[in-house]
Amino acid sequence: MIDSQEYPDGAYLIGSANNLLIGPQHPPLMKLSKAFDYIKIINNKLHIGAATPGGKIVSFCKKNNIANFEFVAHLPGTLGGMLQMNAGLKDYEIFNHLHMVYFKDEYRLLGDIEYGYRSTNITKVAFEGIFEIEKGFDESKIDMFRQMRANQPHDPSAGSFFKNPEGDFAGRLIEEAGLKGHRIGDMAFSDKHANFMVNLGKGTFEDAITLMELAQTRVYAQFGIWLENEVAIIDTRYMGKNKPSKRPKTLL
Ligand SMILES: Cc1cc2nc3c(=O)[nH]c(=O)nc-3n(C[C@H](O)[C@H](O)[C@H](O)COP(=O)(O)OP(=O)(O)OC[C@H]3O[C@@H](n4cnc5c(N)ncnc54)[C@H](O)[C@@H]3O)c2cc1C
Repeated sequence: MIDSQEYPDGAYLIGSANNLLIGPQHPPLMKLSKAFDYIKIINNKLHIGAATPGGKIVSFCKKNNIANFEFVAHLPGTLGGMLQMNAGLKDYEIFNHLHMVYFKDEYRLLGDIEYGYRSTNITKVAFEGIFEIEKGFDESKIDMFRQMRANQPHDPSAGSFFKNPEGDFAGRLIEEAGLKGHRIGDMAFSDKHANFMVNLGKGTFEDAITLMELAQTRVYAQFGIWLENEVAIIDTRYMGKNKPSKRPKTLL
């Protein structure tokens, strides 16, 4: 997840803000208009506008018997947000069947975009994603994805707070560091799944940042692993710091 972009006036582009922690000192925010909320089939490719919500994508695929988008039913957000982070559930990722992305002034084929686990090098406005079409919407997968979510909390959250470090799980590390269920103000690492930071009422941005930094420093001290945010922190005091190279000097 990125916290710096190439947009004019230092503005920050949001989709539907499901994966963002927005602070009081945020830069100007911008959003695509409804003109980018559409789905069309053209020459046997699926063209999806970047402002299209996941629910609409799944309904369209169900109606037109199109496979591979069932997992989107359980991902809150717009296609633009999903493309930017290569959103997914386990191995089911939005880039799996991507053909190309239409940006402000160029098309980029899948092979011209760097992507990996919950990350891409997208820093420009994506207007449209163009996908390969395979037939066969599978209703049973919707249930399977629902089951995968069974261990996740229902309290308000931004989803997984940290990326899983290679070969490990952020939730396990937070739990081992004794922070599962740990609460500061009204923000807490859920006692259901430690990598979900939940708002138990009137949690503030400061509560969330204090918890985040506590987990990062404690996990680093205990395991030598720096937890990288999956959630983007949109506040000028913190932007550009979500990189291992920016970890506190005392921990280097
Ligand atoms: C309860 C919950 C569970 C979740 N579970 C999962 C999960 O299992 N797997 C998963 O991958 N994610 C999960 N998420 C995260 C979220 O679903 C995804 O990150 C989603 O892609 C966010 O979409 P959004 O439109 O809200 O994007 P935002 O949160 O608004 O933005 C996310 C990023 O995308 C960028 N962006 C948005 N639109 C565009 C665009 N048009 N062009 C370029 N960049 C753009 C923003 O600048 C920002 O960097 C979960 C979130 C919640 C709240």
